[in-house]
Amino acid sequence: MTAEIGHFIGGKTVSGQSGRFGDIFDPNLGTVQAKVALASKAEVEAVIANAEAAQVEWAAQNPQRRARVFFKFLELAEKEKPELAKLLSKEHGKTVPDAMGDVQRGLEVVEFACGIPHLLKGEFTDGAGPGIDMYSMRQPLGVVAGITPFNFPAMIPMWKFAPAIACGNAMILKPSERDPSVPMRLAELMFEAGLPEGILNVVNGDKEAVDTLLTDPRVKGVGFVGSSAIAQYIYSTCAANGKRAQCFGGAKNHMIVMPDADLDQTVDALIGAGYGSAGERCMAISVAVPVGEGTANALMEKLVPRVESLKIGPSHDPEADYGPLVTRQALDRVRGYVDLGVKEGADLVVDGRDFVMQGYEDGYFMGGCLFDKVTPDMQIYKDEIFGPVLSVVRAHDYDEALSLPSTHEYGNGVAIFTRDGDAARDFASKVNVGMVGINVPIPVPLAYHTFGGWKASGFNDLNQHGPDSIRFYTRTKTVTSRWPSGVKEGAEFVIPTMS
Ligand code: NAD
Repeated sequence: MTAEIGHFIGGKTVSGQSGRFGDIFDPNLGTVQAKVALASKAEVEAVIANAEAAQVEWAAQNPQRRARVFFKFLELAEKEKPELAKLLSKEHGKTVPDAMGDVQRGLEVVEFACGIPHLLKGEFTDGAGPGIDMYSMRQPLGVVAGITPFNFPAMIPMWKFAPAIACGNAMILKPSERDPSVPMRLAELMFEAGLPEGILNVVNGDKEAVDTLLTDPRVKGVGFVGSSAIAQYIYSTCAANGKRAQCFGGAKNHMIVMPDADLDQTVDALIGAGYGSAGERCMAISVAVPVGEGTANALMEKLVPRVESLKIGPSHDPEADYGPLVTRQALDRVRGYVDLGVKEGADLVVDGRDFVMQGYEDGYFMGGCLFDKVTPDMQIYKDEIFGPVLSVVRAHDYDEALSLPSTHEYGNGVAIFTRDGDAARDFASKVNVGMVGINVPIPVPLAYHTFGGWKASGFNDLNQHGPDSIRFYTRTKTVTSRWPSGVKEGAEFVIPTMS
């Protein structure tokens, strides 16, 4: 019998009531390994009511007590990290060491959330006027929702729930229906760590569940990560329903290779950032931009054999560079883009379309593909492919290289490889992209800084994690106080000023 995954609501695992299910595949084998319940509108509404009732008491707990739950959670999750990574890898298809990184980068935001007593401190002005003090405080929003993608099923749910809950909110997490088991387990661990029931709920589902969260007036804020079209839809629907939203979308990340770059280091960086996790990372490098023909030729000479010798294997193979893609649909989509690139006239130097994994013939495996002489008018340059496919766009000079990521529709991450400090500084200052790496291929900021792309990669005012997350999950109340001894005049009919 196929295993069934329900929801985590009110501190316990419950079965779905809608009678609707989604398939969870085993990407190594190409079979269905479980079914996940897809929540109905009525089920989501019941969770919202439950979360709303629980939130009041949680918000009233002092921040140190709230932080202690996260300290305990860190201890429990740290012990269980290898099992969490295996569970994640089995549904997603990324290698187990890569899945360990997925868990770890999430736990680092939990570590950040442990500082909530300090992070929540407000501002105070003593003597803002005669006998007047002024102070501001940060108060939770109430019930908030997190809607997350398949590609980081541990890290991104933790990026959402840790700051939200630390601030005193109750969260309803709607993880990807492709790989919900790790988010479910994380919620159980939060509960074991002492979180009261109703404060972190995992509701599995699809558009019906999401739309309920977006339109219900009791949900005050929504944090989303996924593809750009859905990010924009979530952002506009939340705005129309009077709730705040931060929605992070897709990407097309460039790596500029300057003529003075150390090519061995560059190729090492490129191969990991381009093909790690089968290219299913929002910060994957999908476009390499060598500057000058000499740089391009030298880069290709070193890069081609590395792409040809990538080691693809089942996700539990400790030697594999990367595993299968997440679903058959994703595999077909990526292969379709490679076909399109050939039709568009790009030079397919390494073709991994027909790769078959021995012993796993039905798995969603794909060999590394490398295109040379890609031009900005091609669809394979414009679209996010989200697979093990790297495009090389040859730039004549630095200005052209700078303009490529700057004028691209997406603006998540970008990197420059060079030994020239002036060039690097100029690039970091001028490039129209949200996160920049200088000789760092995947510049994902650490937990205490903030993460967020620009243009079609982010629909938001505030970024994820770091200080912005505390601003996003709270609202500011400002109090002006004066005691009777400070009252000097009678009635005032003119707006008070400090002149
Ligand atoms: P997706 O947009 O298909 O799904 C994301 C979430 O939205 C899921 O929970 C899904 O159930 C929900 N959803 C999907 N279609 C919906 C609809 N029509 N209405 C309402 N909800 C809907 O994304 P994905 O395939 O799971 O993830 C991959 C994408 O996420 C890539 O584009 C990747 O670049 C992006 N991503 C971005 C970041 C970032 O921080 N910018 C990080 C990771 C992934």
